[in-house]
Amino acid sequence: MAQIIDGKAFAEGLRARGDGCRWLRSEDRTQAGTCGGAGGEDPASQVYVRNKGKQTLACGMASFEHKLPADTSEEELLAVVERLNTDPAVDGILVQLPLPSHMNEQKVIATINPDKDVDGFHVVNVGRLATGLPGFVPCTPLGCVMLLKDRLGSLSGLDAVVIGRSNIVGKPMAQLLLAESCTVTVAHSRTRDLPEVVRRADIVVAAVGRPEMVKGDWLKPGATVIDVGINRVPGSEEGKTRLVGDVDFASASEVAGAITPVPGGVGPMTIAVLLRNTIVAAHRNAGLSFDEGSL
Ligand code: NAP
Repeated sequence: MAQIIDGKAFAEGLRARGDGCRWLRSEDRTQAGTCGGAGGEDPASQVYVRNKGKQTLACGMASFEHKLPADTSEEELLAVVERLNTDPAVDGILVQLPLPSHMNEQKVIATINPDKDVDGFHVVNVGRLATGLPGFVPCTPLGCVMLLKDRLGSLSGLDAVVIGRSNIVGKPMAQLLLAESCTVTVAHSRTRDLPEVVRRADIVVAAVGRPEMVKGDWLKPGATVIDVGINRVPGSEEGKTRLVGDVDFASASEVAGAITPVPGGVGPMTIAVLLRNTIVAAHRNAGLSFDEGSL
């Protein structure tokens, strides 16, 4: 039976280490600016933004939410981002996606100052990750790598399969694993014989958005499985729902060496890493040296 990788406990530890950066409080200068954008009317986005704000405050930083109505023009949103770019009280900016269809998401992200881009979505940060320069890395994949290194130590030479090639999870995940010297395969909807591809992997990262797609008999015995998926499906009781991942936990946990549960695995890591990235941004923006590996 697989060991359970407890993302909730790891995220709490990460937050506690971030909380140790007392200068942030004493000098009261580090702020996380959250720009809800017009995504603020999407119920799931509202929950994410609220939780991010709450946890930012709990960590001793300030949080500003700019909740804009869905019919906000792109120009108005860009003006808010530009104001935050030059606000010395703000060290981290995130625009909650998805934006409404009348906005160009890439243009909005490209307007964020890359040194305040704590979500790591700006092309400058994408390029920094790809070329091994220090920048900001998207929170969910960085959280996954933290869990993997905590569990496995060195990842060097391991075969990793990432299922999914989105800009926010799959692609940065593959880059991070490559940087850890894994041999990386990126699978997607056109991949032929996915179970056979997955069966080669020491590390499987599933970021697909399809409930319980990856089955236990797809896995190499002892593989480490990171399930990024968050899918709401009908529960056993009428009218109730429950969350499941992209991995069929029941069968996968019979074969894997270790596995993240859903909920309680990758999910809690995302906001914890966002706070970590903001603390890093604050130190860099203030020109203070700081052991970034300690967070
Ligand atoms: P996305 O943008 O929809 O990308 C999904 C990827 O899965 C695409 O690359 C797609 O391939 C691939 N795919 C779809 N069907 C497939 C199939 N049958 N076989 C193989 N690959 C398939 O999704 P995302 O934003 O990366 O998110 C993925 C999942 O992670 C979702 O469940 C999301 O809710 C969850 N998520 C969780 C967190 C967290 O904090 N834990 C954060 C972000 C996302 P193509 O490119 O070929 O279409």
